[in-house]
Amino acid sequence: MPMPPRPMLNALTVPELAQLLDGRARAIEALHWLYAQPPTSNEIPDAIPGVSWKVWRRVKELCGLPKVAVVERTGSPDGTTKYLLDLDGATAETVLIPARGRSTVCVSSQAGCTRNCAFCATATLGFRRSLTAAEMIAQYRLARADAAKDAPARNVVFMGMGEPMDNLDEVLRAIEVLTQAPEPMLAAKQVTVSTSGVLPGMRRFLRESRASLALSLNASTDEQRDRLMPQNRTWPIASLLDALREDRARNPKRVHFIEYVLFSGINDADEDAARLPVLLEGINARVNLIPHNPVPGNPLRPPSDERVLAFQKRVADSGIRCLIRWPRGREVAAACGQLAATKWSEPETVGAPRERWRPIRDR
Ligand code: SAH
Repeated sequence: MPMPPRPMLNALTVPELAQLLDGRARAIEALHWLYAQPPTSNEIPDAIPGVSWKVWRRVKELCGLPKVAVVERTGSPDGTTKYLLDLDGATAETVLIPARGRSTVCVSSQAGCTRNCAFCATATLGFRRSLTAAEMIAQYRLARADAAKDAPARNVVFMGMGEPMDNLDEVLRAIEVLTQAPEPMLAAKQVTVSTSGVLPGMRRFLRESRASLALSLNASTDEQRDRLMPQNRTWPIASLLDALREDRARNPKRVHFIEYVLFSGINDADEDAARLPVLLEGINARVNLIPHNPVPGNPLRPPSDERVLAFQKRVADSGIRCLIRWPRGREVAAACGQLAATKWSEPETVGAPRERWRPIRDR
């Protein structure tokens, strides 16, 4: 794995730490120390318990910790918390989503995004930069510190801002560190990376990682998907689903999540629901339906709740596990696709909202 230019202490693996500190026991002490610190502190002291200052000096000289400042913390009535972060000048967002018995942290992998999905608020921001593994791990630590005792943050989803496959080295490092013992020791299966379908990255991810993959399919035909997600012209639906089939041959037990954002009058017809199971044949698929979360200045709308339920029933009746992700955090624009650093984005979005959606004729 390529080492960052100035190694970030919170993004080092145990073997890397052990090499730096001349011993695995000291590496473990260092991790315990790190996880006991306030999550946004980036001070490295002269010494820590259990490691002599002479050895620790190497860490102090060589390593840094990422600069993370919480600009705004917004709670939603449904319990979701959205963090607007300043990461050394770049803006990104993290969301803490509590559920019964566990919480999920939704992490950003980039500040902005270069993929131009017609329905996603992040796309309106443009692209600032990719985040480092250290910044992704810091997001997790920050949110987990706020999780309720009876709902610890055991799940991480890379579903915040950005396309993880466009920053895969850093995402893979973040996952490796998040899943390592003794801290924070998340289960690989409980870490999910969501992709808009960047095929080369997706294939590499499936080969190299044990974490879960979610593919944002969002359409049942290439014609629809070309319009919603322009990169579909490069990597069409069949090529993406073939990659999942190939992975099934290697990892028969791994489940693949299929995200399907429902847009009224675009991809929510009975015919779409009928096409999905055919497309997903031979894939260990679990479908998550996401009613579209409206984005200011964008005409796309979610279907009625009844339509969403009818769509789910059709897919589920075909024998595919299909759940609805009813929006969480919509009140504070923290729901899927609404992450656009609202507070800071104004200078970049002045003027008439860009027409990002061209209606499909002949529907
Ligand atoms: N770039 C990655 C991860 C970020 S988006 C990806 O595309 O998968 C995470 C999920 O939110 C994706 O499934 C995406 O399709 C969905 N999404 C994006 N905009 C949305 C919106 N306005 N309403 C509902 N879901 C949205």
